[in-house]
Amino acid sequence: MCNNKKDRPLFVKINNLDNVAIAVKPKGVEKGSTISENIKTIEFIPQSHKVALKDFKSGDEIIRYGAVIGYAKEDIPKGSWVSEDRVILPKAPALSELPIGTRVPKSLPPLDGYTFLGYRNSDGTVGTKNMLGIVTCVQCVEGVLNIAVEKIRNELLPKYPNVDGVMPINHNYGCGVAIDAPEAVVPIRILKNLALHPNFGGELLVVSLGCEKLPPERLLPEVGEENIIVFQDEPGFKPMVDRIVQKADEILKRLNKRKREVCPASDLVVGLQCGGSDAFSGVTANPAVGYAADLLVRAGATVMFSEVTEVRDGIHLLTPRAINEQVGEKLKKEMAWYDHYLELGGVGRDANTTPGNKKGGLVNIVEKSLGSIAKSGSSVISHVLSPGEKVKPDQKGLIFAATPASDFVCGTCQLASGITLQVFTTGRGTTYGLEMAPVIKVSSRTDLSEKWKDLIDIDAGKIVSSDATIEEVGMEIFKLILEVASGKKKVWTDYYGIYNAICLFNPAPVT
Ligand code: CA
Repeated sequence: MCNNKKDRPLFVKINNLDNVAIAVKPKGVEKGSTISENIKTIEFIPQSHKVALKDFKSGDEIIRYGAVIGYAKEDIPKGSWVSEDRVILPKAPALSELPIGTRVPKSLPPLDGYTFLGYRNSDGTVGTKNMLGIVTCVQCVEGVLNIAVEKIRNELLPKYPNVDGVMPINHNYGCGVAIDAPEAVVPIRILKNLALHPNFGGELLVVSLGCEKLPPERLLPEVGEENIIVFQDEPGFKPMVDRIVQKADEILKRLNKRKREVCPASDLVVGLQCGGSDAFSGVTANPAVGYAADLLVRAGATVMFSEVTEVRDGIHLLTPRAINEQVGEKLKKEMAWYDHYLELGGVGRDANTTPGNKKGGLVNIVEKSLGSIAKSGSSVISHVLSPGEKVKPDQKGLIFAATPASDFVCGTCQLASGITLQVFTTGRGTTYGLEMAPVIKVSSRTDLSEKWKDLIDIDAGKIVSSDATIEEVGMEIFKLILEVASGKKKVWTDYYGIYNAICLFNPAPVT
């Protein structure tokens, strides 16, 4: 809005109903700047923060994305900075009153002819990497396993050029936990599904200590004894390392024979996430990713969006998009579960926004949610998964996969659900990356992508800083997904090997 695009606008407004707009310039907007014919800024507005486009009386609705993001805590004159301390948080939408399937989007025309080069597995899934994964039953074994993995990396991998890497699935679970607590199903399910990830090619190698609460037969009943290494059965450290290296060598021989083949785009399982969000995330990066999500759905692929605490305040916009009553009810159930989980911890949903979000102009969780949901595009919601639940081969289209919003926990849960690639939007910037599947990083601001040239894969900020449209950047993301999934292009995190740890979500007690 306000100025024409060529002059680089001072502020952007998203929806005609909005009564606030976002400051665009990296250094903010000075006091006395003209916004429109009858509005001037009456104080400095930092980048990504909001300016009042009208005189607010105390209690007035503050509208962004065409929706109420809060209420004026005091009178706010036109042209002022609508800062966090001037906004009251609205109540979360009541789960009991949500409309289900009332606005089911019409399916968009199918998109044919798009393919990628993937590793097809015998169970029908298709991988985007060819990795050796070694799963652990308990944290106790990590030290020895890491030494063995280093040896595999240095001595074995050079012999197997078709294998992309080896990774230990280390975690802090397995013992000293209430293994039979009702919620223990969550971390156990996540760990099991990580071991069965499509990028591991159906190969299983399990490392156990021997006395843990989560023994191999409980974690992975399907694994043969010959692929389980139990440390307490080994005569010392060196034999433990030798056993792991020898088993790895056998598996690597098989993995090395795998070849990429042409697969339809419908074989992709793409996860969407955001982290270090700012007020631009919902203007540039998330809507562009939403457009790419629609393209993927049209191409028959599976797309997951997640982060319960970031959709909770926009849930009234999602349940109408549920394909049927059952999917709508499951969405509500996942929200209710999380409400209860937060309550047990003595916190509310406002525990979500971070200091970085606030610096980035997001006054509260409602504003963050409305921007976050833009990632889901406009398709019908066809399925809902509980945290770490594995997607079934026939579950295509847009899926809500319930996870915490924490980047590394969400990333781990989505991997367990079966994503083979993730698209991650950021405004403040994060160095986040996953080893198991590539992560395409999309920045919400051009100045971030210029500052972090060797970390950001796509600049969506150009939707505001130049003439690029949401559709153009969305198509750019879609095409990059196909190239990265094919192994033709490396994302920065894979290029440098920047990887976060596996972080299981454990809502059950630790003993
Ligand atoms: Ca996140």
